[in-house]
Amino acid sequence: TDAHIVAVEQARALNAFVLETPDHARQAAAKADARIAAGDARPLEGIPLAIKDLFCTNGFRTTACSRILGDFTPTYESTVTSQLWRDGAVMLGKVNNDEFAMGSSNETSCFGPVANPWHRPGSNVGVGADGKITGTALVPGGSSGGSASAVAASLCLGATATDTGGSIRQPAAFTGTVGIKPTYGRCSRWGIVAFASSLDQAGPIAKTVRDTAILMRAMAGFDPKDTTSVDREVPDYEASVGKSVKGMRIGIPKEYAIEGMPAEIAALWERGKAWLKDAGAEMVDISLPHTRYALPAYYIVAPAEASSNLARYDGVRYGLRVPGRDIIDTYEQTRAEGFGAEVRRRIMIGTYVLSAGYYDAYYVRAQKVRTLIKRDFEDCFAAGVDAILTPATPSAAFAIGEKSGADPIEMYLNDIFTVTVNMAGLPGIAVPAGVDGQGLPLGLQLIGRPFDEETLFTVGQVIE
Ligand code: GLN
Repeated sequence: TDAHIVAVEQARALNAFVLETPDHARQAAAKADARIAAGDARPLEGIPLAIKDLFCTNGFRTTACSRILGDFTPTYESTVTSQLWRDGAVMLGKVNNDEFAMGSSNETSCFGPVANPWHRPGSNVGVGADGKITGTALVPGGSSGGSASAVAASLCLGATATDTGGSIRQPAAFTGTVGIKPTYGRCSRWGIVAFASSLDQAGPIAKTVRDTAILMRAMAGFDPKDTTSVDREVPDYEASVGKSVKGMRIGIPKEYAIEGMPAEIAALWERGKAWLKDAGAEMVDISLPHTRYALPAYYIVAPAEASSNLARYDGVRYGLRVPGRDIIDTYEQTRAEGFGAEVRRRIMIGTYVLSAGYYDAYYVRAQKVRTLIKRDFEDCFAAGVDAILTPATPSAAFAIGEKSGADPIEMYLNDIFTVTVNMAGLPGIAVPAGVDGQGLPLGLQLIGRPFDEETLFTVGQVIE
């Protein structure tokens, strides 16, 4: 833990951590050492972790990287993190993310962007006298950019993250780490700042498939405090790592071969297929015909739910308050000051698609599309497909500022391979599988049957 505390301090230029908790970490590590010495170690005894700032941590500031939460310090602990502490893990601090997890590059955070520890050759990335990054740094992806950057830079052994439309898998792919979004309902959402409640899921980011499997076991499980949490036994996920894929049927969806796919991504996908074939799996061509509607439908459903969830930030109950003439004026001023541009855009889209007269045309229609997307997957799994292999992202990491310009669609297109999984509630894992022409990491994605994370760990380990 001491080595990790020092690493976190030395890597401040990455801007991965938004709150460092070294005193807490040292105390927790001392207790862990005592347990280990006494032969009484729990499954994660003394393992130093970074916690996404979307998870409420009792007594430690939790902001979702939004000004509106100010210095909000919860008096309760999220279920997922409390299970990690139950098993002996140690918190090093809270890590950066896009504001309310809305984004794909960690650039919407009120704490500023996070740098990816990977960079392009010749981009002159260094640390200036002011402690800030110089040169052309790359984004770590988002929204869990701090989690992915911290893991990739070895500042921690693992991190918690959340995935509403790709926010675990896309940053994992951009940083050469492993990230799994479990089946909807597998991990409790209680105590996690809500973005889009029917899509949000927590999951781990770590260096290897095995490490994510170990962390997942602690994070998963039924929680009566989350009505969408599912009461199913949590398997020993680690036991799935290293099993054979012989005889497994891996679906290759033709709709994911999108127009304009970079040759490097297409080649990576081919390599993934070849590795799995060599390991004894069978590749089957499949079709998920409604794939092309997933991104537009996601960007209706997610903002709709977000606009509703974010109604609670009224300047009265949490964090920031900008006093106005009266209560309405206080609401307006607080929200105008507290929310960043992307969050305001989502609230406007969300309230629009939910408003009388538009509700049926947009929201209800998007929900119908969602059902069709889900059925596409069900049909493939019913036909005997064990898992589906796709690229995780349409490109490698891009530069900070490169896609955060005037057109938000540029950024939304990053999520093209990941949002379908959230719309269908399925588990998905991103595994590092190679590099692009400049040596930047690229990831492949595996999509599984509901509650069959085990197959993803087995197949993922063959690819990594
Ligand atoms: N990039 C997507 C969005 O901005 C997904 C974010 C997420 O998964 N939290 O909505």
